[in-house]
Amino acid sequence: MSITIFQNASIVDGTSDVPREGVNVLVEDGHIREVSDAPLRAKDARVLDLAGKVLMPGLIDCHVHVIASEANLGRNALLPDSLVAAHASVIMRGMLMRGFTTVRDVGGADFGLQQAVEEGLFEGPRLVICGKALSQTGGHCDFRGRYDVRDRHAFDRKLGSLGRICDGVSEVRLAAREEIKAGAQFIKIMANGGVASPTDPIAFMGFSREEVTAIVEEASNAQTYVSAHLYTDEAIRRGIECGVHSVEHANLVTTETAKLMAEKGAVACPTLVTYEALKNEGADYGLPESSVAKIDDVRLAGLRSLEILHSAGVTMAYGSDLLGAMHRHQSEEFVIRGRVLPAMDVIRSATVDAARLCGMEGKIGCIAPGAYADLIVVDGNPLDDLALLTGQGRSMPAIMKEGRFVKNTLDA
Ligand SMILES: [Zn+2]
Repeated sequence: MSITIFQNASIVDGTSDVPREGVNVLVEDGHIREVSDAPLRAKDARVLDLAGKVLMPGLIDCHVHVIASEANLGRNALLPDSLVAAHASVIMRGMLMRGFTTVRDVGGADFGLQQAVEEGLFEGPRLVICGKALSQTGGHCDFRGRYDVRDRHAFDRKLGSLGRICDGVSEVRLAAREEIKAGAQFIKIMANGGVASPTDPIAFMGFSREEVTAIVEEASNAQTYVSAHLYTDEAIRRGIECGVHSVEHANLVTTETAKLMAEKGAVACPTLVTYEALKNEGADYGLPESSVAKIDDVRLAGLRSLEILHSAGVTMAYGSDLLGAMHRHQSEEFVIRGRVLPAMDVIRSATVDAARLCGMEGKIGCIAPGAYADLIVVDGNPLDDLALLTGQGRSMPAIMKEGRFVKNTLDA
């Protein structure tokens, strides 16, 4: 049993726009046991003085695809499962070393990857999974292209596939049930056209109302919710009316629809960094031409959508949605959002609000007794400069996950 005490920490956790100064935190057995303004003592404790440094809960990214080792998702789906798993372990280690101790995978990761991390087979963030995202034929997870007539289920069971194809109410119900049986903690659907897929312009609606409603019922039967890939205002509105809880991307949302989202308690998960990365580097990393042509349809509306969602009072979660070699930009979403949102709100989106969306409120995204000891130490105050959270963890001298340091240069 090892005990670590962090002394004199300034805590930044997204609940206040100034750090809480002079806090002491005791970590034991992977959990935070005590948080106090008074000095803490314990026998054989390792004591680290954090005077002048900031202590934060481990960050949470609510929109990742850890199996996306290539920008060309059609090609990614063809890779052998073993190779995809090996790539995923490297991608996940990168996330952890950027300070992300939990990530919500919104399409592709399975129970096996989740277990592999829990068993300590490789170093990575805790995974919250939906299994395969559900897509209709010709939708955002159908990567077959115009003249490709391979069976629509050819990729359903490939680890490198973000999603699976299902059509019609009875098939979407079965798909949702299979994913839940396989360990999905929420259900992801592709309810709108997308950038990375070849035959669905952004404006296309994915699934019928009946199908979306049926999937929402299946998710709620399993005590969880539906997350939907959505860009256009029409698609977002329809999704909310059908009971979708988390709106991924939301780039083209209008004020009226944002108000409806707030009213229903829906959460938005913007992913602006991916459009910047795709614009700058996508083609170099193999993004097909049909996709490059679609980037600006959503990219240009990005910052405006943050303002609309914020002023309508919609809760936002942090998302990055990066693919392949572009994963290294994961933390830049903090800086992009900081251009139009208060830093405290941006931090909230990757701590308390993200924890709630992961169904782990009080366990992650906070520094409180009973929570996992997922902690990062930052050289400086991210409330003043969100860029301290970027740079592949260069301003984070220590990163702890479940009570164990995965990085610690404090002692040196
Ligand atoms: Zn995505």
